[in-house]
Amino acid sequence: MDLRIDMCLAAIVVLLACSCAGAKDAGRFVTAQMRANALANVGAYEWAAAEQKAAVDAAARWVAMSDDELWAMVTSQELPRDIHTNKDVGCPNCGSGIARFGNYPWRAGADWKLECPNCGAVYPKNDFRAFYESALDEHGCFRRELGDKALLFNAEHPDPNDPLHKLYVDDGYGLPDEKGNRHRFIAYYNSWVQWIRVRYALIELMRAYALTSEPAYAHKCAVLLDRIADLYPDMDFAPFHALGFEHSHGGWGIGRIIGCLWENDHVWHFTRAYDVIFDGIQGDEALVRYCSAKAQQFGLGDKSSMEAICRHIEDDLIVEMLNSYKDGRIDGNTARIRNPAAAAIALDRADETAQWLDYLFDPGYPHEKYQNPVPFLAMEGLDRDGMGSMCGGYGTMQKDSLIDLAEVMAAYPEYTAHNLVADYPKLKQAFLIDHRLRCLNHVMPPIGDSGSTGNWGVPPGHHVFLRGYKLYKDPRMAALAWHYSGRKPEALRLPFDDIFREAPEALAGEIAASVGEAELGLVSDHLGRYGQAVLQTQSAQDGRALWIHHGFGKNHSHRDCMTIGLYAKNIDMLPDLGYPEYTGSWPKRGAWTSNTVSHNTLLVNDTASGYSPGGRIELFAISPPLRAIDVSSLTAYPGMRTYRRSLVMVDVPPTDSYVVDIFRARGGSNHRLSYNGPSGAATVEGLTLQPQPTGTFAGPEVGFTELPGEGETTSNTSGFSYLYDVQRSGGPVSSAYTVDWKGEDLRKRIKEGSEPHLRLHSLTTSDEVALASGDPPQNKGGNPRSLRYLIQSRLGDDVESQFLNILEPYDTTPFIRRVRALQVSHDADANSVAALAVELADGTVDIVIQCEQPTAVQVEGGIEFNGQLGLIRLVEGEVKLMRMSNATLLRHGALTLSAPVAAHEGTVTAIDTTDPMNNTISLDPPLPGDESLVGTVIHFGNGLPLDTSFDVKARTDDGISTGDITIIRGFVDQKDFAAGHTYLVNPGDGYLLPLTRALDR
Ligand SMILES: [Zn+2]
Ligand SMILES: [Zn+2]
Repeated sequence: MDLRIDMCLAAIVVLLACSCAGAKDAGRFVTAQMRANALANVGAYEWAAAEQKAAVDAAARWVAMSDDELWAMVTSQELPRDIHTNKDVGCPNCGSGIARFGNYPWRAGADWKLECPNCGAVYPKNDFRAFYESALDEHGCFRRELGDKALLFNAEHPDPNDPLHKLYVDDGYGLPDEKGNRHRFIAYYNSWVQWIRVRYALIELMRAYALTSEPAYAHKCAVLLDRIADLYPDMDFAPFHALGFEHSHGGWGIGRIIGCLWENDHVWHFTRAYDVIFDGIQGDEALVRYCSAKAQQFGLGDKSSMEAICRHIEDDLIVEMLNSYKDGRIDGNTARIRNPAAAAIALDRADETAQWLDYLFDPGYPHEKYQNPVPFLAMEGLDRDGMGSMCGGYGTMQKDSLIDLAEVMAAYPEYTAHNLVADYPKLKQAFLIDHRLRCLNHVMPPIGDSGSTGNWGVPPGHHVFLRGYKLYKDPRMAALAWHYSGRKPEALRLPFDDIFREAPEALAGEIAASVGEAELGLVSDHLGRYGQAVLQTQSAQDGRALWIHHGFGKNHSHRDCMTIGLYAKNIDMLPDLGYPEYTGSWPKRGAWTSNTVSHNTLLVNDTASGYSPGGRIELFAISPPLRAIDVSSLTAYPGMRTYRRSLVMVDVPPTDSYVVDIFRARGGSNHRLSYNGPSGAATVEGLTLQPQPTGTFAGPEVGFTELPGEGETTSNTSGFSYLYDVQRSGGPVSSAYTVDWKGEDLRKRIKEGSEPHLRLHSLTTSDEVALASGDPPQNKGGNPRSLRYLIQSRLGDDVESQFLNILEPYDTTPFIRRVRALQVSHDADANSVAALAVELADGTVDIVIQCEQPTAVQVEGGIEFNGQLGLIRLVEGEVKLMRMSNATLLRHGALTLSAPVAAHEGTVTAIDTTDPMNNTISLDPPLPGDESLVGTVIHFGNGLPLDTSFDVKARTDDGISTGDITIIRGFVDQKDFAAGHTYLVNPGDGYLLPLTRALDR
């Protein structure tokens, strides 16, 4: 061969190689090696064979479909999508009867039919399939105007002269009922049935390919992806928003196939499906022939080679999606940051992928309206405890997205500019928080828009702890994975994950070998910014848990600062209403469900408290049988001098606890403390209430949900007109009384022979006491029809209050005989000291003394106390035990418990966060050499509205370590992450470490 020609050929080869450099050449999320491991594991392990078989079985329904049938499943832009049919009216036949089936209640019926789960009615009544097919244009796209209108009739009334001939007929854009209400059945079906089927087809085909390496699955999956890529560039939700269709877009009114929030699910599944099946379609000539033929028939782009098809899917689907993170039509914020990363990696073009990943870390991400790049999310979005900045499931979704992101990026090791695990130590806590959020190792308080009324929920899945253990090898994660897996080694496998590993059982074996047999005990815990603090018994068996909420800056919050909850006797004794019927501007949401008065907290000025204003823990003492917390918030209501709740939980062996609840407030008008027990009926003793024949708690002349006040709206109302069936004392109440709620078994939690109650003993002097009923959201399965509220009101201007109530959750028979206030003498403000005797059924008497600040108090019966909290338990008149916290003296008769200091106090001199696993704070004076201080709680005094209390994880030479709980709060400059951090604790802050002392006899 001529040398020159040879060189020319070489040059062409180089050029070709260059033009391909940066093009995707292999699957990333499941590599060829991983697929080979899966096949080997299928041969070696029964569980792996079962996982493969399940994937093959799931994909069978899609494999049974022809390529044309799959291709035709994908609908185009002009067919609307909606998440509701008509949420105000409900079902055209049974109306609001459908509400109890949830927010998205309709069931998929036959082709393009929806069925009401309540009455069985089916809509629409026309054969929409026939109309749809008549409306397809030359590209196979639905065009409403092209459809054959003669096909738009009620198939149950085919006679054109029948007056019902045109009723309940949907051409895609909704149908009017007899009253003129529009119901959007086809749009709902398109969103919830049609597109969900497409998504499932992709997922199930992708999984079957990954676990079998059979190209047939990849082929079917690619037929769908190619067709989606044909249609995706036109997909835009905004025109439908303008027409009144609803979707998940956070109020922005934008999106692609669906609203900009939920479109993320499409990004995640579509782009990963492409990546995983990529290897399987290389060399699939039948796919090229099929797509080419379709392209010719329907006037689509170039599909003459596999390269062209892949480029089409990448450019017209993946890049389209990525670009939408910039224009906002896909929302890349907070809980959804993993998705653009997955898309960028699926795209797998060296430079472009790196640029997209860089963009996620850029201060300008995603666009000007709001900037939430990864560094912000991982440093400010996550709090020190690893929880996101939103309530309930929203917050855990947010942190899960960062966990996912870390794993997604691990699939692309070439990218080294950022490393989530190394760079963002808060991420580690995100693997532990699902456990810390739980009461009794099971139930997560339904704070804000989360959960439902009285629901016990489910314990956390164990996979998150397993994933954490893989990354950090933290023995706590191993123990949690073991506990929440039900102690089954076979459960310690991650589905669609371990099967791809070379030694797939190694990790499970390591965990099973490392954990002991001890039960996972309960820990009383506090979460600073999330503001959930829990006092709970040591064991979940017959466990009791009391929580208080004082979150700061949380999205999806209710106006519920200092609300409390109580789990006891296997039910929720103080049920929060939880998730509203609907979010957005749903009237009852603002006026009632998220309003202050519907919570177990104090309303001031007859207005709602602040939105997630934060509160600070002043005391956190654990010394069974006593557990106590004291929280203060000066941001809940502007101008208040005091807004502070002190809770003391005392165990009564063997299986009971009572709660002393002291709410102090100074300033503002009309203090009203609200409680709602676990049922719609309550029995009052020691007090006579008169029924108010008409109206609501807002007044006899104000009807249910009316807002007659000048300028009164659903967003500024007191919510009083949502409280009906009112009974009132009609005047001041100064004597003790009780209110008893008998728990209702709406969630199958009450065992045969049990009869749980909540009894409230009031020692509060009120200007009025009232009972009234309020309604939980009615579209959440298991929610009660109504709850009975107790409202203690202290009326007037510049009111000063000390509400004193005792909560007694009991089974069948009360364990408290009576409670009474004790005479005290002291020099402090009258409302700052509370002392009471709790006489138990067996004759035991508990004396509880609780002061706002450490105070010298003489209590009737010859008791002397100097401090903040004291407990004396007397059995047959003899002291059985004493507890005191932040106190120096507790004396009963000849018996004295004393201490040289109530607390260690001083100033922070330095902080050091260099080692994220060992955050240290230097103190002046340093703490004494006392290892019993490890495990106690230290409070730092500063001007922050959120809590800055920390567990002492270890003592250091000159202070303490908070261990791997960071004291970093966030960034100094949101535009310049290199400019340094802000901190929760700073030199110059005061510190207070209250001491708790015990005496047992
Ligand atoms: Zn119905
Ligand atoms: Zn709430």
